[in-house]
Amino acid sequence: MKIVFDKIGSTAKPIGLSSKGVRLEGTLQKSGYHQVTLDAQMCGEIELSCDRCGDIYGYMIDNKLRLKLSDLVSEDKVDLDIIEFLDGEIDLSYILESEITSIESSYHYCDKCDNNDEDFEIEF
Ligand SMILES: [Zn+2]
Repeated sequence: MKIVFDKIGSTAKPIGLSSKGVRLEGTLQKSGYHQVTLDAQMCGEIELSCDRCGDIYGYMIDNKLRLKLSDLVSEDKVDLDIIEFLDGEIDLSYILESEITSIESSYHYCDKCDNNDEDFEIEF
């Protein structure tokens, strides 16, 4: 799902899309010169494989997502959270998929292993 950068004004524009079973819903709003703010909620369930036992388990996502988007190369090196869309189109599918990928690639244990860890510590 792509949205032309210049079509976003100071009135919040509602957006909604799904990818890999995760729903992203929220608004896009112009927040400055060549800058748009995405204010959204991610909801859904993805499959993760446990980094300890390799089991596949369902992981519920319910995260707020707030990002700054720009259609220019950011001069402001202090603000590293800006995502640049230099072709003038905001690719919401790309944003959602990269958020899902970053969750998938982070270190995670299934519930079983999480609990085992606690038991382990109590025994000592
Ligand atoms: Zn596990």
